[in-house]
Amino acid sequence: LQDKLNGAFRTLKGKDRISDINVAATTKEVRRALVDADVNFKVAKDITDRIREKALDRKILISVEPGQMFVKIVQEELTELMGGQAESINIKGDPAVILIAGLQGSGKTTFSGKLASLLKKQGRQVLLAACDIYRPAAIDQLKVLGEQIGVEVYAEPDSKDAVSIAQNAIAHARKIGKKIVIVDTAGRLAVDEVMMKEVEDIKSAVKPSEILFVVDSMTGQDAVNTARTFNQRLNFDGVVLTKLDGDSRGGAALSIRQVVEKPIKYISTGEKMEALDSFYPDRMASRILGMGDVISLVERAQQAFDEDEAKRINAKMRQNKFDFDDFLGQLQQIKKMGNVKDLIGMIPGMGSAMKDLDIDNDSFKPIEAIIQSMTKKERENPDLIDGSRKRRIAGGSGTSIQQVNNLLKQFDEMRRMMKKMNTMQAPGQMKKALR
Ligand code: GDP
Ligand code: MG
Repeated sequence: LQDKLNGAFRTLKGKDRISDINVAATTKEVRRALVDADVNFKVAKDITDRIREKALDRKILISVEPGQMFVKIVQEELTELMGGQAESINIKGDPAVILIAGLQGSGKTTFSGKLASLLKKQGRQVLLAACDIYRPAAIDQLKVLGEQIGVEVYAEPDSKDAVSIAQNAIAHARKIGKKIVIVDTAGRLAVDEVMMKEVEDIKSAVKPSEILFVVDSMTGQDAVNTARTFNQRLNFDGVVLTKLDGDSRGGAALSIRQVVEKPIKYISTGEKMEALDSFYPDRMASRILGMGDVISLVERAQQAFDEDEAKRINAKMRQNKFDFDDFLGQLQQIKKMGNVKDLIGMIPGMGSAMKDLDIDNDSFKPIEAIIQSMTKKERENPDLIDGSRKRRIAGGSGTSIQQVNNLLKQFDEMRRMMKKMNTMQAPGQMKKALR
């Protein structure tokens, strides 16, 4: 999708005002890109119709790059369609019950663990209830996660009655003073009457204050159909979109929101317990637009390691002073976190630049070697690096001139992306542009 959209916006590049003709061409490209990303055709058409109107409405753009303005309009529109604000979950009752539903393999159990871990970090008393009685390994899976995050798991290995397990879990929570019970349920490979009936029964027995429907973002149009069915039966409160670390389909987020009219509340971006984010429509819109998710990256960096460092980097990004030393620091921090693939897509420009590489921690070695072979001045200002310096850096780092060139190019692209994002975030600039 990103490539497609980048292509669409390229249509506008170099033009100094938005005219009917290039708006039409660009919206058509945007529509095609959205449909390709599994956005429902009608939804995609509605979106692009509105985008076209907005773009033509703002008879602007003499002083500003029209492509940039167009991106801004598309981003606003996508953000609004995905709900505008991040929405939180309802925690009410004693104990509060959160019911997790979805197809088998969608990521329910993993998410249950992540949510428990998140709530625990917020200082809440959480109990996990293992109500998947069909897969023999399901209880163990939840227990392993529970142990890992230090949250108790309630299970009845011999029971064949998911409803009574859920009820007993709640009684147990009350007894031991847990304030929240997360009920992990069984899924099937496809929507199925027995499964639906069971989840419905659990729902009426435990009266959850929040029902979350978990769906694999890689399942495309099917995700929308599954969401629709689950919503008809359960009237859930929110959606959890999983596996956004893979070939992420922003399309599912858009269509599900449009079709079932329920907010997406969390996104899951990996198998690790930390790989959970609240759903921010504006960030998802940026991500769909290929601008990278800097805000999430910085936020996650804050959680995982030094907060001051994250602030410093954030400030440098804003001032457009992000240099190779910062870049090297970021790489090293990412490596410390273990899961490179999760994070790489969030760095502006890096997502598309490095998408095709098979990335693991070793992939960073040549990059680090190249940066380490630069002088301090060069790291701060890569423009100083001329042909002969490139040769030396390649020699010093055991890489080729082409590798050095590639890195410089990617870095430049990344900085330009950051600059673009900064400009778009500044309301003053927008006003100026609208005059
Ligand atoms: P359930 O059947 O709905 O309970 O699904 P599980 O939680 O057991 O997850 C199914 C598989 O998907 C497991 O191998 C998980 O590790 C994996 N998984 C879950 N969430 C994510 C995610 O966000 N990203 C990735 N890459 N894998 C995930
Ligand atoms: Mg499970």
